[in-house]
Amino acid sequence: MPEPDRPTPATVHLHRPVPDRAQLDAASRVFALLSDPTRLHLLWLLSENEADVSHLAQASGAARPAVSQHLAKLRLANLVRSRKEGRRVVYSLRDGHLRNLVLEALSHAEHKVTGDPWHS
Ligand SMILES: [Zn+2]
Repeated sequence: MPEPDRPTPATVHLHRPVPDRAQLDAASRVFALLSDPTRLHLLWLLSENEADVSHLAQASGAARPAVSQHLAKLRLANLVRSRKEGRRVVYSLRDGHLRNLVLEALSHAEHKVTGDPWHS
């Protein structure tokens, strides 16, 4: 798919100019959690909209118990949060950084998959 013209790169909201060890360790743990296609799919679904386990299982094609386990892991790591809505538990992404991270990872991957030219 051709990329739209983007004269300026997307704004990256960095908190510090130079990461410290604690930040590098924490970011590595985030990448470790993203390093699973099903979890990445769930996070992408949550980047679109908050959702409950049933919806996420149906939309991802993964088994409901597996989805629950992934969500528990993601919640423990503070990548997703949950709230009760009646009898449903609704999940959402923790923050906009994670959303950007997931979308950028998938966009980067699309270049690999399609062979579309790289860009800055
Ligand atoms: Zn691109």
